[in-house]
Amino acid sequence: LAKENGKNAFEIYETGMQSQSIERLELEAALRTALVKEEFHLHYQAKLDLKTNRITGVEALLRWEHPGLGPVSPQQFIPLCEENGAIVPIGRWVLKTACKQNVEWQRQGLPPVKMAVNLSARQFSDPDLLNDIHAALNESGMDPTLLELELTESMVMLNPARTIEILTAIKSIGVRTALDDFGVGYSSLAQIKGFPIDTLKVDRSFIRNLPESDQDRAITQAIINMARTLSLQVVAEGVETQAQETYLRDISCDESQGFYFSRPASPEDFATLLKGHGIDLPG
Ligand code: C2E
Ligand code: MG
Ligand code: MG
Ligand code: MG
Repeated sequence: LAKENGKNAFEIYETGMQSQSIERLELEAALRTALVKEEFHLHYQAKLDLKTNRITGVEALLRWEHPGLGPVSPQQFIPLCEENGAIVPIGRWVLKTACKQNVEWQRQGLPPVKMAVNLSARQFSDPDLLNDIHAALNESGMDPTLLELELTESMVMLNPARTIEILTAIKSIGVRTALDDFGVGYSSLAQIKGFPIDTLKVDRSFIRNLPESDQDRAITQAIINMARTLSLQVVAEGVETQAQETYLRDISCDESQGFYFSRPASPEDFATLLKGHGIDLPG
């Protein structure tokens, strides 16, 4: 496009790049102080067991409220934190806060739910990861078997031998793991098979056009069949319609997560949802 339109288009393109990097620098500067200024908080999105229609777990999702800009999307700020390393202390805070919240809900008399926490690539390769997990569990007093760590394919494929070591150590303390956004990465069946993980979360892109898309029906069914063979649980993410939920129940997907059942919510709103809903004991 720049070529076709000559110099002007190129200039516009350059200006665009420049303002983009200024915005980026501003965000990075603000992110550096966001943790101490307590600008982060967590929202919680329920996971629904499709057999029992009960809430079995919840995923902690990081939120950043910038004093001037208002809420900034994780898709925008997490990659920046990942690049400059800030995600390590931020991720540590997420882990501690989520574990404390889980215990707090039980203290309020709510039934126990699994708590899923997203890990970043930097955190996963951080030598302190296991210490951080232990610290979060010990400080909160949370039952380790209620904690689930969500990882992505690219993270676990980076160094498969080391991945197996870490996942084995995580599993040995009773903490579960899930592969997030499954299906969009490049992991092979042979490699997944060697990882001691518990759950696959089917990426939203395969759910979006269900049940109409022949291709996406074939893909989700194939993932569920593969998961059965490997004794893995399957969660569908991004479930937005009743038709999607019904289809997923029909093909024996274990759990569903998405705006149709529940949007990410404040701790108070999630507690209200859980109170009104009843749950199954996680197992
Ligand atoms: P994710 O872990 O795959 O989380 C699911 C994302 O999809 C969340 O976006 C959630 O709000 C959104 N979502 C849930 N249901 C639906 C739906 O039905 N339709 C649509 N369109 N979207 C849905 P969010 O909160 O913006 O987070 C985006 C990503 O940022 C997460 O993807 C995760 O990769 C990352 N993230 C969020 N919190 C953390 C965190 O504490 N640490 C790390 N390392 N990454 C995080
Ligand atoms: Mg996730
Ligand atoms: Mg996901
Ligand atoms: Mg996703």
